[in-house]
Amino acid sequence: LSETAGKVFLVGAGPGDPGLVTVRALELLARADVVLYDRLIPDGILGAVADGAELVYVGKTPDRPGISQSQIEELLIAHARAGHQVVRLKGGDPFVFGRGGEEAEALAEAGVPFEVVPAVTAGVAATAYAGIPVTHRGLASAVAFVTGRPGNANDGIDWDALARFPGTLVFYMGVRELPVIAERLIAAGRDGGEPAAAVRRGSWPDQQVVEASLADLPARVAGAGLEAPAIIVVGPVVELRERIAWFENRPLVGSRVVVTRARAQASGLVDRLRGLGAEVVEAPTIRIEPSIDSAEVAAAVDGLAVGGYDYVLLTSQNAVRLLFEAIGRAGLDARVLAGAKVAVIGPATAEALAAHGVRADITAERFVAEGLVEALAGEDLEGRKLLLARAAGGRRVIADAVSERGGLVDEVVLYSTVAEQPDAEVIEMAAGADFLTFASSSSVTNFLGAMDGRIPSGAKVVSIGPATSATLRANGIEPDAEANPHNLEGLIQALLSLHP
Ligand code: SAH
Repeated sequence: LSETAGKVFLVGAGPGDPGLVTVRALELLARADVVLYDRLIPDGILGAVADGAELVYVGKTPDRPGISQSQIEELLIAHARAGHQVVRLKGGDPFVFGRGGEEAEALAEAGVPFEVVPAVTAGVAATAYAGIPVTHRGLASAVAFVTGRPGNANDGIDWDALARFPGTLVFYMGVRELPVIAERLIAAGRDGGEPAAAVRRGSWPDQQVVEASLADLPARVAGAGLEAPAIIVVGPVVELRERIAWFENRPLVGSRVVVTRARAQASGLVDRLRGLGAEVVEAPTIRIEPSIDSAEVAAAVDGLAVGGYDYVLLTSQNAVRLLFEAIGRAGLDARVLAGAKVAVIGPATAEALAAHGVRADITAERFVAEGLVEALAGEDLEGRKLLLARAAGGRRVIADAVSERGGLVDEVVLYSTVAEQPDAEVIEMAAGADFLTFASSSSVTNFLGAMDGRIPSGAKVVSIGPATSATLRANGIEPDAEANPHNLEGLIQALLSLHP
């Protein structure tokens, strides 16, 4: 076998929560040449695939049968023989009702090398996210995973054995046949009063759970309009849910929250909101476009290198990040700041700076340009040289104030904030939002532009601070809450304060 020989990885993607995807799966996705994927895979996981890799959807859709199993197997073999690293990505675990075993057989037969990457299977995950442990001391000492399609020929379900099974029964693909499943189990002697539940889209933000006795579950599921994909679980463990359900009890469950930050900056906020149970819609309306290749930036870095500045003023985390990138590209490091006092706006900027091993000498209390001017009040700036690193098109508040006090300011533009148009799907999702969050004035302007100036009725508006609130008011929108402190944690607290 040559080094460049192709290989197939049969990879499980877990039940839906992107946090349940294995490290191994992400590694393989990042270096795959081709990814063949199904319908029920976690949101955003394909984002782990490298640019230029081929993505092939091989799943079924309700109205379209999709490509056949043997065609999928042929594709896997063909790609591997062409020397590709192939990821075959499946929902849940590849070997639990996933036909991964059949694909492995086909690959083995064809002499194509392959590996299997197991994953969190829905029978364990959907139940866990519903607060139902599939085994429990004293309640269930065994668990059976069963296909819920007894109608399919040859599945050969032994209902008598299942009825007698001393433990929890977990049915996959069982929604449609639920009336038959319940009836057969009860006819074979399982107690119709036994606790049971259906968990639809377990671990997804819109997870739905219906609980009833085994005898009543079919009617209750039909009444709730609950459809596939769902796990049906039968056993006394279902009752534990009453005490240990956790997923639905998080504070923002059932709320849709729009995040309008630039994508690169939003991830912390998005993760926090998701962790609180929110359904998060990322509507990045701005993008940070670095401009550190300019002669101006090179001159500023040279100036720093020769100790030419008494003060370095940094207005944002992006300014910190990009100044250090420019310094690094010049083959230099944080020591170029050794002789200067460094002043920043806001603790988040101070933290970003600290991550580079530099402690801010001055941190503006107020997170606006005027705040930095105030923070410099105690400094004697007469004849001092200052480097102001900032975004393009920003206000001239700082430079003007500093010059007035006799300081000699070099301004250097490290990036611009460019409007980004959210796509149609995002706009549609945003229209049904419960909360809109704004972390800057430009995100207000750009979001309103994308939404034709209207915000969804019923959505509560949360602003990160006074400047953003002012822009909202200028557009006729009164924020429902303003963060204090004016940072992401403050924004989250402000949002939670609005939540009933
Ligand atoms: N290989 C997958 C199962 C595929 S069969 C695994 O290991 O999980 C498809 C069935 O899985 C669905 O009909 C449903 O019963 C179940 N399923 C998959 N994802 C689910 C989820 N998030 N919540 C509940 N059931 C799910």
